[in-house]
Amino acid sequence: MPPIFDKPTVDKYDLVLIGGGSGGSGCSRRAASYGKKVAVVEVTGILGGTCVNVGCVPKKIMWHAADLQEKLHHTQGYHIKGDAALPKFDWATFKPQRDAYIRKLNGIYATNFEKEGVENHHGFGRLTSANTVEVTRPDGQKYTLNTDNICIATGGHPVIPSDEEIPGASLGIDSDGFFALEEQPKRVAVVGAGYIAVELAGVFNALGSETHLVIRGETVLRTFDPTIQDVLTPWMEKTGLSLHKSSKVVKVEGEKGKTLKVTTNKGETIEVDALVWAIGRKALTENMGLEELGVKLDSKGDVVVDEYQNSSVKGITAIGDVQGKALLTPVAIAAGRRLSNRLFGPPEFKDDKLSYEDIPTVVFSHPPIGTVGLTEPQAREKYGDAVKIYKTSFRSLYFAMIDEEYKEPTTFKLVCVGPEERVVGVHLIGAGSDEMLQGFAVAVKMKATKKDFDNTVAIHPTSAEELVTLR
Ligand code: FAD
Ligand code: NDP
Repeated sequence: MPPIFDKPTVDKYDLVLIGGGSGGSGCSRRAASYGKKVAVVEVTGILGGTCVNVGCVPKKIMWHAADLQEKLHHTQGYHIKGDAALPKFDWATFKPQRDAYIRKLNGIYATNFEKEGVENHHGFGRLTSANTVEVTRPDGQKYTLNTDNICIATGGHPVIPSDEEIPGASLGIDSDGFFALEEQPKRVAVVGAGYIAVELAGVFNALGSETHLVIRGETVLRTFDPTIQDVLTPWMEKTGLSLHKSSKVVKVEGEKGKTLKVTTNKGETIEVDALVWAIGRKALTENMGLEELGVKLDSKGDVVVDEYQNSSVKGITAIGDVQGKALLTPVAIAAGRRLSNRLFGPPEFKDDKLSYEDIPTVVFSHPPIGTVGLTEPQAREKYGDAVKIYKTSFRSLYFAMIDEEYKEPTTFKLVCVGPEERVVGVHLIGAGSDEMLQGFAVAVKMKATKKDFDNTVAIHPTSAEELVTLR
């Protein structure tokens, strides 16, 4: 078993990180690779953070399960014959298998720390000065780690409205609760319109739960390009999900684990077995001594950092979700690695920093979405009439053999600017968009033009080829 430390092993560390998630792990391991003495303080005692334990990884596994369940509807179209009854996903037996895989990943994280010389300290980290981190162990004992560099990588937690705001709100669960569900709810209501609401509602719906999605606006993913919203929103409804538009939950009644009655401002009452709040996340910055030390937080509680991840106090940096920008695992890791490059790496890295521009991102909806760069409204605001849009909508060849009701839409959009038609935005929805985007994100990052796209020979027959043949 890799060791868990419960006291300091040196008088002074080169770097102490608070939080053993994506950012903490990326930053600490890179610093250790430069021979630095590094400690990571993790309150749960389990490494991997949100992504591994209650985020990307178990979510993507559930998405695969949902995707597979959906594809069973396609087998008839391809004349894969046999028993008429569709096999059905068994949540109760699958969850322990999924959990076991996550535990394996936790072990791999711990082993990597051991191999690379990063100390894993189990406890709550709190800053007592710009050079000292107090660790409160699970048994209540405290000790102090001295260091020249403290990095805050504490991530965030899901937000649930208080019972004062919405009576009975606490009868609902959040995304952490989703991953704790031992049984598949037969009926479920998800509240929210962002990444998590869309992804979790999509999983429930594809796996056969009666799924209600309660959104405040008329579309989901309102911060995404309008084309994405306009394709996904009606498709979600077409696949059987009940979308409650322009609706807010005003009251929840019942008993947790039993039937809940969810009432909306429109007077609708939805009866469900589970209610999932997916209305955003909040940075974990409380009780950490930050404000006392003068570390500036914004109105949402995120740590304010400059482009080099420096907080307002010298020697204290912040990476990942806790700094409130682009809450994505690869962003936390990349920012962490670059920070260690800058602090401890060779001279060519002395100005290393992460650019937060053109970060590609995927929503694991059904079908998936891939997007990088400016949306059309953002581009029009920035570049006015210099914006040119190329767009195509089609059914991928895969669906040619499949019943009309299961034929998923595909829409691709390029946002270009200037006479050279530089591609400043790529917005994809449709099967395979999740895997398609990474390469196109490289092109956007390299400032490719529409002509560069057109000069690239298509790969046939694929959906991706449409992106280099747009007119
Ligand atoms: P975290 O990974 O949250 O790590 C912070 C760690 O700090 C935690 O382990 C916490 O226990 C610890 N901690 C907190 N306070 C203290 C303290 N005072 N002392 C000691 N330890 C402390 N991103 C993607 O890129 N792709 C996805 O598909 C994706 N899916 C997601 C799905 C869900 C349901 C959720 C919730 C998130 C998803 N994300 C996804 C976002 C991604 O998980 C986060 O952006 C990422 O985990 C942030 O990493 P972090 O290091 O900043 O924080
Ligand atoms: P998001 O910020 O993505 O979405 C939350 C949405 O909930 C808002 O956009 C808003 O939509 C709606 N909302 C906010 N407050 C309320 C309220 N009081 N009542 C009803 N609806 C409300 O947060 P998520 O929690 O979905 O995800 C957090 C972050 O985690 C994401 O931003 C993303 O960075 C990351 N993530 C990434 C994933 C990926 O990479 N695939 C997957 C999951 C999470 P509206 O204004 O339209 O009502």
